[in-house]
Formats: sequence, structure tokens, C-alpha cells
Amino acid sequence: MKDNRDMAKVLIIEDELTLANNLADKLRGEGFVVLTSQDGEEGLEKVRSERPDLIVLDIMLPGLDGLSLCRIVRRDTSTAHIPIIMLTARGTEVDKIVGLESGADDYVVKPVALGEFLARVRAVMRRAPGHPVLQDELVSNDLQVSLTGRRVYKNEEEVKLSNKEFDLLVELMRNRGVVLSRDLILTKVWGYDYFVDKRTVDVHIRWLREKLEDDASDPRRIVTVRGVGYRFEG
Ligand code: CA
Repeated sequence: MKDNRDMAKVLIIEDELTLANNLADKLRGEGFVVLTSQDGEEGLEKVRSERPDLIVLDIMLPGLDGLSLCRIVRRDTSTAHIPIIMLTARGTEVDKIVGLESGADDYVVKPVALGEFLARVRAVMRRAPGHPVLQDELVSNDLQVSLTGRRVYKNEEEVKLSNKEFDLLVELMRNRGVVLSRDLILTKVWGYDYFVDKRTVDVHIRWLREKLEDDASDPRRIVTVRGVGYRFEG
């Protein structure tokens, strides 16, 4: 079983709490370890003490602005290698050039589209030297999912799932706390072209519950949101 030392650690330095929390939730859902800071100086301290694998950095920050912070990180040989993605409300070419010249690896303009943000995080980390494990495991309470091994453990006992059950579980866990409609689940798990009845989703949900819930008649992990779809809790 991998522990946190094997997981990629991301430090988000962003003073807009709602945005910082949204980005943190998204990254945690993907298996990253996430730290946050709302202040430039405190953020720089965390860069030095925590040695993150990636920094997501807002430009306009209290304490120390993001461009200055970026230059400081780049000048310090112990932190110079850490990839940096800058966030900014200002999307002009000039700002982009200033951001990249200050040493950022990439640039995301607000309002941040979460899917695009995640794609950039992955791209930047793949390019980083000796890039760490991006995502090998999803964990929720007593449930552990190994993505590369396609294995699921409940209370450290392996649970055998079919391919579709596994893909469905991963899709739900990656979006924990978010309601997924049957249509979306069909598209993501069965694919656009696959002609299946929406009830197929319900049937697979039932099978997952029988295998993963303590009491399948009173599901706590995979909950039904009536008239909408399903949501993974935990
Ligand atoms: Ca800001």
C-alpha cells in the first residue's frame, strides 16, 4: 500500500478561498496531496519547508506577489526545479510573457476551467524531472483503489469487480461529492458510441453497492440523488 510520500504534493498559493478550495478538491479527488496558503510570504515558507512537487501560484497575493515569489523560488537552487503553474485574472499576452519570464512553467487564466487546469497540472508534472507518482490510488475510508493494478480493497480485503464496475467506481470516486447523471456516466464509462440502456447504470450501481456497501439496502458510499443520478460520498 502506498503512503503519502509516494503521492505528488501540490502547494496552492491563492488568496481567493473559494477558488483555492475548488482546485484543492479537484486535485485531491485525483489522488494528489494538497497544501494551501493564502499569503505570498507564508506560501514561500511552505515551499521551503514542504518541498512540493508542484506550485500553483496566483499572481496578485497579499504579502509577496506571485511574480516575485516565482523569481525567488527559481533563484534558490534547492527549489529551482519545482514546476510552477501561474493563475491570474489577467489574460493578456504581456502578462503571460511576464509570468513565463519570471520562471513559471505554465499559465492558467481565471476563471479557471477545472478540466483544463487538471490537464495542465498533469502536463507540467510529466515534464518535471523525475516526476512523482501522479495517481496510483484512490482512498475513501476503508476503501482503497489501485488504479494501475485495477484492484479494489475494502478493509484491506480484495473485492473482485468486473471491468465496468471498476471503471464506474473510479469515475464516481474521482468526482466524489459531485452528482453524476446517468447520461454522463454512460458517456464516461461505456463511451459515446456504446448503445446501452440507462438502466445498465442502475444495475451496475446495484452490483457495486452489494460489493462495497456495509448494507446495500442503505447505501452510504454511493448515494442516489433522485431524478438526477449518483454521488460518491466520503
Ligand atoms: Ca489573488
